[in-house]
Amino acid sequence: MSVLDVKDEYVGQADVGVVGLATMGANLCLNILDKGFKLAVYNRTTATSEKFVSDNRAKYGDKLTGAANFADFAKLLKKPRRAMILVVAGPITDGVIQSLSDVFEKDDIIVDTGNAHFKDQTDRANMLEAKGLRFLGMGVSGGAEGARKGPAFFPGGTLSIWDEVKEIVEAASAKAIDGRPCVTMCGSGGAGSCVKMYHNAGEYAILQLWGEVYAAMRGAGMDGDQIQKELTRWKSLGDLDSYMLDITIEVAGHKNAESPSGFLVDVTGDAIGSKGTGLWSVQVAMEVGCPCPSLAAAVVSRQMSMEHIQRRLNHAIIGGETSKASEHARKAEAAFHEEFCRDLYWAAYLAIVASYAQMFEAIRAVDREYKLNIVGNLPRIISTFRAGCILQGSMLQPMTEAFEKNPNIPNLMCAFGKQIGEGMPGFRATCGRLVLSGESMPVLQASLCYMVTMSQNIILAGQAVSLQRDVFGRHGFKKIRDGQLTEESYNEEWPEMAP
Ligand code: NDP
Repeated sequence: MSVLDVKDEYVGQADVGVVGLATMGANLCLNILDKGFKLAVYNRTTATSEKFVSDNRAKYGDKLTGAANFADFAKLLKKPRRAMILVVAGPITDGVIQSLSDVFEKDDIIVDTGNAHFKDQTDRANMLEAKGLRFLGMGVSGGAEGARKGPAFFPGGTLSIWDEVKEIVEAASAKAIDGRPCVTMCGSGGAGSCVKMYHNAGEYAILQLWGEVYAAMRGAGMDGDQIQKELTRWKSLGDLDSYMLDITIEVAGHKNAESPSGFLVDVTGDAIGSKGTGLWSVQVAMEVGCPCPSLAAAVVSRQMSMEHIQRRLNHAIIGGETSKASEHARKAEAAFHEEFCRDLYWAAYLAIVASYAQMFEAIRAVDREYKLNIVGNLPRIISTFRAGCILQGSMLQPMTEAFEKNPNIPNLMCAFGKQIGEGMPGFRATCGRLVLSGESMPVLQASLCYMVTMSQNIILAGQAVSLQRDVFGRHGFKKIRDGQLTEESYNEEWPEMAP
């Protein structure tokens, strides 16, 4: 006798099924059960399903059922069946989709919540629809705690399919301060996973820039307690108040008995892992010609962090020179603590604006190319980031309003003109100061570059490079007439210049 035996009275009863009982799946199951739905579970390792059902039967009774194989899992679900997949993203998810499609019938619905590439979700939808089944790709944000208490969801695909799973997903989702569920249909095809991909790329950038702010403060001689205090003050100012600042404050001051400094961070490995969404986001943005240097710098930062063996070898040979503070920085060092923190505040502020601007520009560019119908939903999508989501923070409010007011705003940065005016001197001073002191700050610097370059009327270096290309390759160049680029291209007569 097993808790996974399918009793007659369980057949066709479950409102929804969940495949995958690791961190996300198990927590989401408890969340859905708490909302009163009947739920069936399946996990590849049967012992995990048995334990999950046994542990939670006392609380949820027969509302919770489980299966030892896909065929039994299908029997437990009400028709048309609805199942959510929370297993390792990629080919493993494809295998689970295949197994479900073998036992599911016409009109049954499969929802994948993994961190998938949006193009894969479109392919999966097409493949399943050809078999008469229905599919939604639905990103989820909020980690384990979000899954348990209410995450933000990003569904994409066919509206009529969403209508059939909406009730459950909305109930399980986080609720924003105005009570609205943190979920909205993002668009068609792989739109939900596209939004989740860029959400993650934005998350990479902002986590990294908070890491750089932390490192800058350490470089200026502040210890974990002082950093915690200063960042808590920044939070109290309101605009930067966010989940990612909260976790940075926690990390900065977190103590550990093993650590000589007393702080956990000093005995923590520096190699930052990643699972692909940040890289895919940057690759696709580049392919569609959308510059996103802060997002790219965050991906590259993780890659450099993973090169810890090479870094150590390099450090032994050239590290003394590459990270040595310049004379100028050493002379300036002592005096600037208050000014340093004020400038750094603005650097963080504006780098966050620049990173979000790139994230939304990339979504708009990818949407244009792949016709995912996301753009019209952008204000609603941003409003779903307001709770249960890693990106959650005060700045989302003015961003939502900016897109509501003008969906065709040239760039989100344009909605922050006042703050840019106030903060730019501090942003520049911070980047200058950190360069001189020998700190590495890929995202802060990339963000400054983006903000400056993307608001330049003329890029002088661009003019020079256009001519260079004409010198060696006769590629031609446009001219500027009446403030506009000419339609036609020109070639100049250049002296012979063989390489
Ligand atoms: P994992 O991504 O670690 O996946 C573990 C689950 O996959 C287990 O149920 C495991 O079963 C199952 N699995 C592994 N190999 C196979 C296989 N060959 N066939 C069938 N099932 C298999 O779990 P998470 O809970 O971390 O994430 C679940 C999904 O949610 C992922 O797609 C992830 O992208 C997404 N996600 C995760 C977030 C997070 O913070 N962790 C946040 C947002 C989304 P078994 O017990 O048998 O090993």
